[in-house]
Formats: sequence, structure tokens, C-alpha cells
Amino acid sequence: MQPERLYDESLYRFHEAQPSLWEASGLNPQLDSMPLSGNENCEVAIIGGGYTGLSAAYHLARDFNIDVRVLEAGHFGWGASGRNGGFVTMGGSFIGVEKQIKRFGLEETRRYFQLQKEAVELVRELGQEESIDYQPQGDAEIIIAEKPSHFESLKKHCEVERDILGIDSSMISKEEFAEQYYDAPHQHGAMAQRPCFGLHPLRYVQGLAVAAERRGARLHNHSEVLRWGKEGSNHILETASGKLTARNVIVACNGFMPEHLHGGLKARVMPLQSQIVVTRPLTDDELSAHNWKTECLGVNTREVYFYYRMLPDKRLMLGGRGEFSGTQLAAQQTADALKGSVARLWPNWKNVTFDYTWRGLVCFTTGFHPSIGRMKDDTSISFGFGYHGNGVNNATWAGRELARWLMTSNSPNETKPLHLPPQYHGMTAKIPFGGMRLRYAAAAVGWYRMKDWLDGIR
Ligand SMILES: Cc1cc2nc3c(=O)[nH]c(=O)nc-3n(C[C@H](O)[C@H](O)[C@H](O)COP(=O)(O)OP(=O)(O)OC[C@H]3O[C@@H](n4cnc5c(N)ncnc54)[C@H](O)[C@@H]3O)c2cc1C
Repeated sequence: MQPERLYDESLYRFHEAQPSLWEASGLNPQLDSMPLSGNENCEVAIIGGGYTGLSAAYHLARDFNIDVRVLEAGHFGWGASGRNGGFVTMGGSFIGVEKQIKRFGLEETRRYFQLQKEAVELVRELGQEESIDYQPQGDAEIIIAEKPSHFESLKKHCEVERDILGIDSSMISKEEFAEQYYDAPHQHGAMAQRPCFGLHPLRYVQGLAVAAERRGARLHNHSEVLRWGKEGSNHILETASGKLTARNVIVACNGFMPEHLHGGLKARVMPLQSQIVVTRPLTDDELSAHNWKTECLGVNTREVYFYYRMLPDKRLMLGGRGEFSGTQLAAQQTADALKGSVARLWPNWKNVTFDYTWRGLVCFTTGFHPSIGRMKDDTSISFGFGYHGNGVNNATWAGRELARWLMTSNSPNETKPLHLPPQYHGMTAKIPFGGMRLRYAAAAVGWYRMKDWLDGIR
């Protein structure tokens, strides 16, 4: 029997790959990975083979020589890790810097952002150390003001980031932007944030899988955990063809959280769809029509924002918020709306055709930050999730922190990683009436769209 899921079943077909540009241009690595079969044992079992799970496995095997296995329901990178926009940027939070300072104090907010930088650098280091051909691109994220008043707000934001938090943020005037980045009627200047870069997300997760295996982790693709029980202090994870006994479990499923497997996971996440469209390669004349010169990553200042970048083969990629049913028909309608947005934002490209569209789930939480911790009633279960659409670096970093915490903590019964800033502490609060979650989300996104509309943004 299929478990009850939040969205339409078409979003949980683990045997199907997304029709993405990434899948069409991945590395197709030679892994030893096979579905789990028979009865096996290990010290640490990880559920989920994206950045969180593979980074945890890599660091456990490389730094602590631990007998670790990863069970992934699809192929490695089937989830958000193989289908995201490839933005390696700072964030991981639903609330802005100013609110974080109010809530957590200046020192903890500074520490949080230092770790965000560290996470970006970790992705860069792993790429270099493990020779992962993930096509790095650009050196900044640019936040593009869609109105002159947004430019003024960005200026204040930039001062806080630069002068108080020590982030390398700077402003770009409308004229400079038109000359050095691109020009279009929607741009009114921007703020640039460094260090950030873009990559091919599926190649990165595939490279991480190869590296984890090379360091001694054992990987099992097409091994969905269907049942999770306990015998004494051991966990028993059952798949269709095998049974894995483990002392510790790390849950690394983020937006695809299998809530049916364990009571402690119920209604802890708010998975929201994000959808991407990619054009055919643009010609030099077309690029000149908007004076496009940048390889940096772009986001605009709408409440319901778009993220976009020009890929190495000169295709424009644009992503935005998906809808709340998950059906394939609704996904097609969202894709059409995103294509319409490309035509509105860059009018000289209104006749450009599109080659790819795909979607996936990003993960929000009631804590508004990533949730890293251990289960209160069973501290042999750890978890890391809730990267708020900013998981390339945050999930990689969370995986490493989970590995380190598991192996080096003097307090194995600690449920919160108290050595990290409070933003990351422990299990996020349960969402009340969890079955209604998507209705709350639809109402909230509707409200933010209305705010954009009232602000004159179409
Ligand atoms: C369209 C889109 C665009 C995005 N753009 C960006 C971006 O540009 N930059 C950025 O930083 N972040 C972005 N994100 C977010 C980022 O991709 C995620 O935060 C990150 O990939 C999370 O990694 P993860 O390993 O925790 O989860 P995932 O990569 O989602 O992996 C979870 C895995 O768990 C597996 N699983 C679930 N249930 C079971 C089970 N029962 N048994 C075994 N396995 C199971 C799933 O198959 C899945 O592969 C985007 C996400 C989406 C969807």
C-alpha cells in the first residue's frame, strides 16, 4: 500500500528521473551502488542520498572510518539535490538579517553568517579535493531591485550586512548594472553578495556519491525504506529486498520526508514546490539584445521571487514558486506561467523557446532555519533538514556537522547541537493540524503575491 503523501503521487515516483537539463548533462558516474539485499549490518544507516546524507556518509567514512550505509529510494541525487538551481549562496533562513539580529542577538547572527560562508567554501573545497567536475560559474549572488524604492531598501540592508555582520555586500547602481551585468526594464540596480557561485547540482551530488564510496561508505540506490522498527537498541530498516540493522540512524530526506516511517517526523516540515524552466541556448545577438554579460546568480526583490542565471551554454534558467496540488497538469500550468514571466522580464526574448522544465520540493520549517538535532525519545536518531531553498551549501555543511557531532560529542544524549548557533538547535515545532499544511502555505503565498501586486509588480 502506498503511504499517505502531502502532494500528488507523481512527485514521489522514485523510479523516474526528472526531465531536467541536469539529468541530460550529468556525469553518469560508475558507482558500485546496488539495491540493499538480504540481511546487513552497519554502525550508521542514513536514509536519503542527497547532499545531507552523502556528505554525512563521506565525512563519517573519511574522518572517522565508520561503517556507514546510505539507503536512497531513487538514484543518488533523485531528490532536490539533483534538480535545484545550483546556487551556492548564503541564507538558509526564512527571515532577514535584521529580524535575526532581533531574535538571536548580534553575536549569534554574526556566527550564523560566518558558518554560511564556511558552508559555501566547503562546497568549493570538496569540489577541488575530490575533483568533481561540477562546472563552477560566477562569483556573486546579485539581488536585483524591481523598483527604485526596493533599491533604497537594499541599500540599508547592505549596510547592515557589510558594516555589522562583515559580509562582502556591495551596491550596484542601475547604470552600472545595465553596463556590466544586463539591461532590462525591470532592473533598478542591485546588491551583490560574495562569496557565492553557481554549479551543476546533479554533477555535484554524483561527485559526492563517488567520493563517499571511494572513502569507504556503502551506497544503496533504489532502496526505499518501507518499514522502520527496533530490536533492543538496534534499528531495523526494511526495504523491498533487504533488511539493514544499525546502531544509529541519520534521517536526511528534507522536503521528501517519509513522515509515515516514524512518529517523530510527523508534520515537522513544510515542503513547497519550486519549479524551473530553461530556454534553448541564446544566440550572441539575443544576448546583446539585453546586453547580457554576467555569470552571476540572480534573484529579484519580489515577495514571491524568481531566481535565474545564464548557464555555461547560454541557456537562461529561471525558477519560481510552484503550486499546491502537485499534479502534472498543474505543473504544466506553472511552467507556462514561468515562461510568460521570462517574456515579461526580458521582452526582447519573448519569442525564445524552452527546452526543459522540472520541479521539486524545498523544505521550510516553523523554526525558519535549518533543523539539526537528535530525537528526544531516541538520541540514536539524528536529522538535518529545512534549508529553506538554500541547501547546496547548507545541506552539505549539515551532513558534515552531523557526522562530527555523532562521533565527537561527549554528550550522546544531547538533542540539540549546543556548540552551533541557536538558529540550528534541534527539532522544529510540529505544524498544528499538519494535514492542513498546504492550505496554510497556499494562503501565505497568495498573500505575498497580493503584496507584490499592490506594490505594482506584475
Ligand atoms: C527546484 C529547486 C530549486 C532549488 N534551488 C536551489 C539553489 O539554487 N540553491 C540551493 O542552495 N538550494 C536549492 N534548492 C534546495 C536544495 O536543493 C535542497 O535544500 C537540498 O538539495 C536538500 O538536500 P537533502 O540531501 O537534504 O535532500 P534531498 O536532496 O531532497 O534528498 C532527500 C532524499 O531522501 C530520499 N528518500 C525519501 N524517503 C526515503 C525513504 N523512505 N527511503 C530512502 N530514501 C528516501 C529521496 O529519494 C531523496 O533523494 C532547490 C530545490 C528545488 C526543489
